[in-house]
Formats: sequence, C-alpha cells, structure tokens
Amino acid sequence: MRTRKKYLLAFTPDSARLPIIAVLVKKFDITPNIMQARINERGGRLVLDIEGESKNIEKARDYIIEQGIEMRELNKHISRDEWRCIDCGACVSVCPAEAFHVDPESYEVVFNPDKCIACESCLTACSPRAMKLELW
Ligand code: SF4
Ligand code: SF4
Repeated sequence: MRTRKKYLLAFTPDSARLPIIAVLVKKFDITPNIMQARINERGGRLVLDIEGESKNIEKARDYIIEQGIEMRELNKHISRDEWRCIDCGACVSVCPAEAFHVDPESYEVVFNPDKCIACESCLTACSPRAMKLELW
C-alpha cells in the first residue's frame, strides 16, 4: 500500500555527509520532497515529505536510523494548546506551509498539523504561546 508521511531527520557531522536522498530513491524506491533543509558539514536537519510503499518506508526508516540519523514522524510533535489560543491570526501569515486558516464563518483560526514543516515561525509569532513543537 502506498502512503505518504512527513519526517524530520537530524544529522551529526558524520551523518551529514551521507547521500540519504539518493539512497531513498535508488535503494527503497521512495519519492522524497525536501520541505525544509537546515544542514551543513556540521550537521543539521531536514524535513522530508516522502511517498512510497509502506514496507519500503519502514525499511528506509530502519536504514536511516542505522546510519546514526535521528528520524521522527513530524505531525506527532507539533501541537496547539486550544485553551491558550485567542484566534489572533498572527500565525496565519507567518506559516510558510499554510498550516493555519481562518474559518470564514466562525472566524476561528484552524490548525492543520499535517501541513507543518517545523519552521518554528509560529512559536515566536504566537504571543499567548499556544504553539508547541517538541521534536526530540
Ligand atoms: S498566533 Fe497563537 S493565539 Fe494567535 S491564532 Fe495562532 S495559535 Fe492562536
Ligand atoms: S512550525 Fe508553525 S509556522 Fe512553521 S510550518 Fe509548522 S505550523 Fe507553520
């Protein structure tokens, strides 16, 4: 069964040199889409949207972890404290992934964690500190 998931990968200086994208494509027949990249020779992180057969994604995940790269499914780690949110809308304009929109009838700000690419912009834009991103 084909599926699509979003992952955050964290690299050390050693693992940052590995050709992970090429391996995903060639060895596991996975289509990766880089949503965000903050990486150099000292390490860093990638947010990948990947599509492929479920069993291949599982195998690729095991392979990546064996290389010393931390890998987390992304949408499980971003959340909004609904009690703190005051629907001010500050997050809507700063989010590059359009993870927020204003409901035209209720004027409430709706959050879709599946779209998040972990850029962290909403964390600083949200004065009531309603947004939480706990990656590791
Ligand atoms: S910035 Fe914070 S308080 Fe304002 S709508 Fe977004 S999540 Fe809610
Ligand atoms: S961290 Fe916030 S602003 Fe950035 S993509 Fe996710 S929801 Fe949007």
